Parts: sequence; C-alpha cells; structure tokens
Amino acid sequence: MASAKQDAHWMGLALEQARLAAADGEVPVGAVVVKDGQMIASGRNAPIGSHDPTAHAEVMALRAAARVLGNYRLEGCTLYVTLEPCAMCSGAMLHARLDRVVFGAADPRTGVAGSVLNLFGHPQLNHQTRVTGGVLAEPCGQLLKDFFKPKRTNMDPVREDALRTPDAAFAHLPDYPWAPHYVNDLPSIHGLRMHYIDEGPHDADVTWLCLHGNPAWSYLYRKMIPVWLEAGHRVVAPDLIGFGKSDKPKKDSFHNFETHRQSLLELVDRLDLQRVVLVVQDWGGILGLTLPMAAPERYQGLLVMNTTLATGEAPLSSGFLAWRDWCESQPQFDVGKLFLRGNPDLSALEAAAYNAPFPDKGYRAALRAFPPMVPELLQSDGAAISRQAQSFWRQDWQGKTFMAVGQQDPVLGEAVMRTLQSNIRGCPEPMLLPKAGHFVQEQGRAIAEAAVRHFRP
Ligand SMILES: [Zn+2]
Repeated sequence: MASAKQDAHWMGLALEQARLAAADGEVPVGAVVVKDGQMIASGRNAPIGSHDPTAHAEVMALRAAARVLGNYRLEGCTLYVTLEPCAMCSGAMLHARLDRVVFGAADPRTGVAGSVLNLFGHPQLNHQTRVTGGVLAEPCGQLLKDFFKPKRTNMDPVREDALRTPDAAFAHLPDYPWAPHYVNDLPSIHGLRMHYIDEGPHDADVTWLCLHGNPAWSYLYRKMIPVWLEAGHRVVAPDLIGFGKSDKPKKDSFHNFETHRQSLLELVDRLDLQRVVLVVQDWGGILGLTLPMAAPERYQGLLVMNTTLATGEAPLSSGFLAWRDWCESQPQFDVGKLFLRGNPDLSALEAAAYNAPFPDKGYRAALRAFPPMVPELLQSDGAAISRQAQSFWRQDWQGKTFMAVGQQDPVLGEAVMRTLQSNIRGCPEPMLLPKAGHFVQEQGRAIAEAAVRHFRP
C-alpha cells in the first residue's frame, strides 16, 4: 500500500505532465502509471493537437504503459491523474484492470469517480480497481483554473490573418457603458480574440445570451440589457468574429457556418452558462437556433425576433435575395445609414456606433461573406444542421418561448416568423411590433420588459 507521501510524489510527476499539456495549449491534465515503485509511463492531454477526441491524459498513459509491459492488462499498476477521470477514461481503466486509480482535483462536471456518478463503485463493472481522490487537489485544480482564467488579452498579438479595430473607434458610444471581456483561445478560432459583454451575477436565475446578426454587433442590445440587469439577471452578449469588438479575419473565405457555430458553442461552454434564455435575431438565430440541441440542459427559454432557420427546404424569400444582391452591388455600403433607414430616430452618434467596427474596407470581410452564407439549398453548408435544429424545436424543446416580430421587416418579417412559430414546440402568439423593422432590438425595451414577465419562474 502506497503511503500518502508516495502518492503525493507520483502526483507531482503527473502535474509535470499537466504543465506540459498547458504549454501546448491543451487543457492541463497529466497522468503517470506506476508499477512496483517505478514510473513506467506518462501521458498528457492532447485532443486538440492530435485531432483525437480520445487523447485524454489517462488514455495516453494507459497506451504507453501497455506498450512497455507488452500486455493490455495492467495488473499491479497504479494510475495517477491530476483530474478526476471522465466516463471514457474510467471505462478504459476498468478494461486495463488497474490495481488502483489516484486522482487530484474532483471534476463536478464530467468526473465519474464519485462526482457525477461513480463507475468504480459498481460491482458489476469493477472487481478490483480501488480509487483515491483529492491527492494534491489544490495545485491540480489551480493549474486548470489558471488555464481557464480569462487572460489579459488586450495585449495579445493579433493573428497575422486578422485585423483588430482600434479601441479608439469605440471611445464615444452612447448607452454602451459595459466593460469588454475577451477570450482568444477558443479551439475553433484559436488566436482570434472574441469580445463579449458579461454583466450581472453568475448565479442569477436567468442568463440572457444575446446573439446579433449581420451587420450588427452587441451594441444592438443596448436597450434591452439594462432591463435585464435591473431584474437581477446575467447578460452575456458576444460579438461574432468579424463584427463589433471581435477580431476581423482579412479573408472572406474565413467565414463559414460551422466555424461560427462552433465558436459560439465553445464560448457557452467556456463561460459554463446555465439557466440560459437564448436571445436571437437575424444571423443570431440562423446560427443560434442550432445551439441548444447541443446542450439542452443549459437552456430554459428562447426569445426569438426576426430570424429564420435556413434549412434549404424552401427557396429563400425574394426579400432576402434582394438584400443579398444589394450587398454584393454595394460592398462599401454605410452600415449606420442602413440602420437609420429602418430606425429614423437613431441619433448620429448611434448610427456611427454601427460603423465603428469597420474603419476601412479591410475590416469588412464578414459583411461581404455573411449574405451568401445563408444556407440556400438542401446540401448548402449549415442546411443539414439547421434541419436537425428544426426537428429539435418541433419535438424536443422543453423550454418556454417568447416571440417578438418587427412587422416592417421586408426580409424576415411576420410571414417568415409565423412559419418559425409553427416549428417551435409550445411557441405562443407573438408580440407584434407594427412600427419595428428588421432590427427589432432598436425598440427592445418593451420587448425586454415583456420577456422578463414571460420568463418569471
Ligand atoms: Zn477522460
């Protein structure tokens, strides 16, 4: 029986592996396998670099140990790992017939050696592997916390294939007092800095996740956010890559449905958003409506405004095709003017805020790329996932829905929204805004207030 001192010694070596993983940009988890008082193998987390979802530290270490011993059974061995193992790794350990598993930090989200469940405690599954948790838990957990801590990204270099709108462009925005938050290591967009607003308590009853479309940014939600903060809720509003305060790839070809969808999924995961009401409009919905099916337990509600699910099953509306043609013919269109067209009450400063992200042509790749990216045919990129989402909303959606429709929208107006309503399980009669256009959020205060009442538990 190994002493506590020996356990700490071996865990220290597993921590070394975890640090090496962090240096490679992987989630820092490390493992070692010990037999007869000797370390015979080590492994560290490598799923990103090796494009291998199974490349967890424990699996890497088990494989290495089995090669050393020339045997797939690792009897007499102890595996030390810095984080409580997941279901996959625990399964592999049970197959390996380890004598003992020792882990460092508990993992309340995916650990199955006692946290989420205890696979090792099932006599039908496990005859021999003993488990000890909490060895050097503090440094093992701290390494993970440091890794995930929002980094001081303001000073981060801009990726060579991207541009960053200077902060000065955002210096005088009316009604947008919120501090910027940044993340620059989401795997699907590694090295690109994504901006988001994150206000209100993290343990609030409701987290409003606000997704904008083209050519807007989180500024679009400035009239709704204060209502939700006054209600004591949390608000998270990201800027899609290419928009707002997020980095802007130089090439149009960077932009595709899957990358944007993935980056949003990763952001939700990184911020571990819970009790979410998803707030969508335009591309915020085309992308955003495909998110909840990936993690339905995070979502309690949907606030949906002028948008659609582009499944490729029906032809795109003539209104949309006209918009797409117009964008192509006017690549330098004035974004602020476009907002003024549907919202004549906007001040000059507010209109300028919509132009702020795009100081010159080089920054405008997303504006060019998004209109042709709307899935048009059954086989278009994003169409299949949108059809999956449609069946999710029809059959599986368990949350509450609130729909608000700007009736002056020539592209995604009432007709399109009535179709969407019929495709969302339990979607009640929408709130109709006869004077609102496409950018419904510009009249968002009343919507936000009605939504607070609607989603009150
Ligand atoms: Zn694992």
